[in-house]
Amino acid sequence: LLNRAAVALGHAKYLGGNTWQLYRDEMSADGGERLQLEQQLRRGLKEGHVQAHYQPKLCLKENRIYAVEALARWYHPVRGMISPVQFIPLAEETGLIGELSETILRQACSQAKRWLDEGAPLQVSVNLSVQHLRQGNVLELVRTVLDDTRLPARLLELELTESQLLDDSERLLATIADLRAMGVQVAVDDFGTGYSSLGYLKQLPANSLKIDRSFIGDLSSGSKDAAIIRAIIAMAHGLSLEVVAEGIETGEQLEALQAMGCDAVQGYLIARPGPAAELQSLLQVENPIAWALESCTA
Ligand code: C2E
Ligand code: MG
Ligand code: MG
Repeated sequence: LLNRAAVALGHAKYLGGNTWQLYRDEMSADGGERLQLEQQLRRGLKEGHVQAHYQPKLCLKENRIYAVEALARWYHPVRGMISPVQFIPLAEETGLIGELSETILRQACSQAKRWLDEGAPLQVSVNLSVQHLRQGNVLELVRTVLDDTRLPARLLELELTESQLLDDSERLLATIADLRAMGVQVAVDDFGTGYSSLGYLKQLPANSLKIDRSFIGDLSSGSKDAAIIRAIIAMAHGLSLEVVAEGIETGEQLEALQAMGCDAVQGYLIARPGPAAELQSLLQVENPIAWALESCTA
């Protein structure tokens, strides 16, 4: 039942989220195909076919690219690039999530150290599955990877999705507090979709909130989305949390968010996720806000 619920959930996310799906047999690959996919993912991880792509985050106050989010990509030898929306649930169900997280964490931290050495101190965010957090060795893993790559802890952020944070417990909060004590930053991802209680948010030792992209539609004044976002920003700032808006695709959205006091934005308007090398030219842009606004009118 739980597996099927997870398949339906994966499908709902694939359709853009903010929706629900009932499980249907055709949604999941049959047993044989699943097994095959699992073996291929295992091999793909060993052979380096799972790679981190990077999507920049633009700080609106300082008008600069200050961070990137690492997003896993699986280059399947036959099917081509497979979306994380498809293989993360598979990795979670089959226990491969630990290995996958480690792969992305290592790549992301090595890359961030390279940027730092080149004079571009970018913070890198890595998505963490709560399934992996519960396995209990995340703290050790993060410490080892930071040591191995010699990346300062403050340049690593871990993103945890709001809905996953809800169903746990003191222990999860304690792990997050330990990560923070190491100097690692913590963000609540997909905020607004998980119905978190405000009491819970108060306890959570996070640094920032990422507003889910389902709220970034029409942000003209008077719209419902704009009202929700304004409220989230006011609440987050009241709790000393930074606010990042995800899924920004238009200049109007960027300008509206800037006027509302949002700290940072991420989305196709600035750049799609891509290999590290593709970021190089964007890092040279002197006024990225103007550049992003121009690129959408051009
Ligand atoms: P997320 O962490 O919320 O990542 C944001 C997703 O929105 C990414 O999809 C990104 O490509 C997409 N996106 C960014 N800007 C825009 C935009 O302007 N418009 C639209 N329509 N979409 C935009 P992606 O790469 O497919 O990743 C989906 C989800 O998979 C992520 O959501 C994250 O929850 C999960 N994920 C990705 N990589 C990892 C990983 O290494 N580990 C774990 N545990 N989960 C991961
Ligand atoms: Mg994320
Ligand atoms: Mg998100």
